[in-house]
Amino acid sequence: MNILVLNCGSSSLKYQLIDSDSEKILAKGLCERIGIEGSLLTHQRAGEEKRKRQADMPDHTTAVRLVIDTLTAPETGVISSLREIGAVGHRVVHGGEAFAGSVLLTEEVLKTVEACNDLAPLHNPANLIGVRACQESMPGVPMVGVFDTAFHQTMPEKAYLYGIPYEYYQQYKVRRYGFHGTSHDYVSKRAAEILGRDVSELKIIVCHLGNGASVSAVKYGESVDTSMGLTPLEGLIMGTRSGDLDPSILQFLAEKEQLSFGELMEILNKKSGVLGLSGGFSSDFRDLAEASAQGNERARVALEAYAYRVGKYIGAYAAAMNGVDVIALTAGAGENNAEVRSLLGQYIEYLGTNINPEKNKIRGEEVILSDEGSKVVTMVVPTNEELVIARETARIIGKN
Ligand code: AMP
Repeated sequence: MNILVLNCGSSSLKYQLIDSDSEKILAKGLCERIGIEGSLLTHQRAGEEKRKRQADMPDHTTAVRLVIDTLTAPETGVISSLREIGAVGHRVVHGGEAFAGSVLLTEEVLKTVEACNDLAPLHNPANLIGVRACQESMPGVPMVGVFDTAFHQTMPEKAYLYGIPYEYYQQYKVRRYGFHGTSHDYVSKRAAEILGRDVSELKIIVCHLGNGASVSAVKYGESVDTSMGLTPLEGLIMGTRSGDLDPSILQFLAEKEQLSFGELMEILNKKSGVLGLSGGFSSDFRDLAEASAQGNERARVALEAYAYRVGKYIGAYAAAMNGVDVIALTAGAGENNAEVRSLLGQYIEYLGTNINPEKNKIRGEEVILSDEGSKVVTMVVPTNEELVIARETARIIGKN
């Protein structure tokens, strides 16, 4: 069955058409600047170059129609009509406590997803707009929601409760949810598969080191802790997000700089992380590694602080699981950035990781970085969130 995988942001839409039997990507692409002047579609058929096209996309419904037209047009397409799309899998960021797994998106389910909007005001409304746009353009095609939070719903109370009055959890569900769940799920299972082991017998720490970044403790196949919290702001220092900090900093800065909560959140989400630490130089790890090698001190310290925080979380999660067998690195920097990986290597050596400097040079491939016989296997496992969404969609459709 062909499954259209969609990841809708407020002004963007990423798509992949995947044949769920062969698990091959038939085509993929991106609509950018939806609702803004200068909308752009980038489309790529398997084995071909990317094609870019300026096209008016005043809203998501128009963008979805354009994607379908592009997938079915003779010169750009890979299918002959809409009827060859068996289902749509939607990435949904926040499922709150309501969803511990993927679901068929019925009207009732969509109402429950809508009720989670409060918890992810930047992401969930955009995800829902994508679902509505598909309903309009593809009536009758089943839709499945795959949640970023679902994989972490196995966390125990001691890991997901914050040390604040319990009534706030009871009343408003203020707790740790965690994100990047499809990635942590895929990478932990794939790591076990590569090692020829059963995930149910391994303690795995997954480090998703992209622009957004999080670490999770996956014990015997279940997430038992993760670094992101109520929102994706907590935990690691990220590209532009601060990660953990003393909450009193908010009041202190609000008073010193006369800032509102909205302005403070903007600073913590968009102007902090390695971007902030490097004095506004860059949020991109490639730029930072290059600048650091050329003697840029702020870039060097930003990378050091980033790797140090990841190292601290690995230590914490080894404790949380009373041991660790595998450390799996993934996402942009984890898969590709040798500098970040070697900086991190210093903080996990004591576990018996034995990272081999030659293997550490490899980019974007599945590779075991540790020397043979190491106590803790450190490896790179490129993530594949779209494939998880396609697999989940096929599984849910098969059940219904
Ligand atoms: P993501 O959010 O997973 O796309 O990750 C984005 C981050 O990965 C950026 O900071 C990039 O600098 C980093 N990254 C992606 N590709 C490479 C590469 N080939 N070499 C070094 N860093 C990379």
